[in-house]
Amino acid sequence: VGVVLVDQDGVLADFERGLLASFRARYPAGPAIELADRTVFRAREQYGPGWGPKISAIIGSAGFYRGLPVIPGGAAALTQMRQAGHDVFVCTTPDATSPYCAGEKLDWVAEHLGPDWRRRTIITPDKTLIGDQLRPCVLVDDRPDLPGVASPPWTQILFDAPYNRAAPGPRLADWTRWREVIEPALAAQHRPEPARDPR
Ligand SMILES: [Mg+2]
Repeated sequence: VGVVLVDQDGVLADFERGLLASFRARYPAGPAIELADRTVFRAREQYGPGWGPKISAIIGSAGFYRGLPVIPGGAAALTQMRQAGHDVFVCTTPDATSPYCAGEKLDWVAEHLGPDWRRRTIITPDKTLIGDQLRPCVLVDDRPDLPGVASPPWTQILFDAPYNRAAPGPRLADWTRWREVIEPALAAQHRPEPARDPR
């Protein structure tokens, strides 16, 4: 057993589906990019200089994060992982430019995962600083090339998305398969033996 950190957007909350729905609602004649065609991590970059600022405005608006749909199977998998003995936490980096994002993320967690999960949600600007050096630790995250100042204790498991297909490493295609991906990744991590009581 080990520590399992789980990203929120693109892993538990369907950021891309929510963004596309909001974009179509605001700009019915706009150049919507289908989910399968989203090939770079940041939508505003792929939408380009003309439409990118409109994407940023949608993401920064009140209610956007609160209203994101769920990615199927996430809540059930979190419960199953805890039942299997793992220490499981949501680990998320809010958009620092949005005055709504962090609070709405916690409200989303309470509604879709349950109120208890508010206390199991780590809000951090740098995920490389989070984790356990002594026990196996993984981070399930859809972002390739996660930035950070530290050498992280976790192995990243990429949650599959069209914009991360070129990235190497273990990959989780959907939550029904968590056992066959996360358990081997934890087992493959070698940790120092804990110090023994000399008596
Ligand atoms: Mg994410």
